[in-house]
Amino acid sequence: MKYNKLISWIIPCFNEQEVLEISIRRIIDFTAYSSHYDWEFIFVDDGSKDNTRDIIKSYNLQDDRVKLVGLSRNFGHQYAVQAGLNNAYGDAAIIIDADLQDPPEIAKEMISKWEKGFDVISGRRVERVSETFFKKISASCFYRILNLLTEIHIPLDTGDFRLIDRKVIDTLKQMPEKGRFIRGLVSWTGFKQTQIKYKREPRLAGKTKYSLKKMIVFALEGLTAFSSRPLRLATIFGLVCSFFSFLAILYVLYIRLFTFAWVPGWAGLAVAILFATGVQLISIGILGEYIGRIYDESKGRPMYIIDENLGFSKDKD
Ligand code: UDP
Ligand code: MG
Repeated sequence: MKYNKLISWIIPCFNEQEVLEISIRRIIDFTAYSSHYDWEFIFVDDGSKDNTRDIIKSYNLQDDRVKLVGLSRNFGHQYAVQAGLNNAYGDAAIIIDADLQDPPEIAKEMISKWEKGFDVISGRRVERVSETFFKKISASCFYRILNLLTEIHIPLDTGDFRLIDRKVIDTLKQMPEKGRFIRGLVSWTGFKQTQIKYKREPRLAGKTKYSLKKMIVFALEGLTAFSSRPLRLATIFGLVCSFFSFLAILYVLYIRLFTFAWVPGWAGLAVAILFATGVQLISIGILGEYIGRIYDESKGRPMYIIDENLGFSKDKD
């Protein structure tokens, strides 16, 4: 007897009660398009404070393909996705946001590319409808800086909306690193990758769960996890400054020894001191980022803590 392939949907949710029911229904309805696949819908509740978890539970009662991974507190989007992947049984997984900004219907194309042999099929946002100007600019700068600074290539404007093959899921499971930046890790694995272009819709309801703070943390994690070039940047800054300082010292000595015009000049002094302190602070900050990462990794704490699982049969795993 031939079994259908199983495809796992991984949907991280943080306070998504306004959209969740609509997304659950839209995703489940969409999957009815093909009977050649079996589906499981893994909703990861990333410590929501609203009714998100109850909504997921009520759908689990109606449809046992709907599963819940409930985290004990808010661990962050990337960890929620990882928690979902770690619990998925599928031959492939589709990672999608709960707010339907990424249309689930694209999955059809993703699956057909997967059947053609691609292991990672990411959605590439060609247009972002009604996202704030700041978000668009910051996202576009971020991806470009990331590619400039990192050794691996992360495709421009792709998010975590993607289909990944079992091979990739297993590889990700073997990577214990914290400071997780999943789209980077996926590129790093190097399996056969491709993209599908799509239009990013506005959020269906509710507000973005990525606060500015979360965005900055995310960006710093992406950069420090995949590049040590910022460290080198600090060294280069230092070298350039030292060079100019050396010239300045020669100049000062010359003025002091061979001329009589050496009295005033605190302005130059002040500028030099301020500049040097600025550069030093930046460099120390960069060092700090990396030391912080080493510290986080060395503690060896789990990436997330699950306090409730629903819909996973005990005999598997
Ligand atoms: N999310 C999460 N934990 C968080 C923040 C966000 O699980 O700490 C989820 C959120 O519920 C959504 C997805 O991650 O499904 C993307 O978040 P959001 O749509 O708020 O980000 P944006 O699209 O604005 O970048
Ligand atoms: Mg969103």
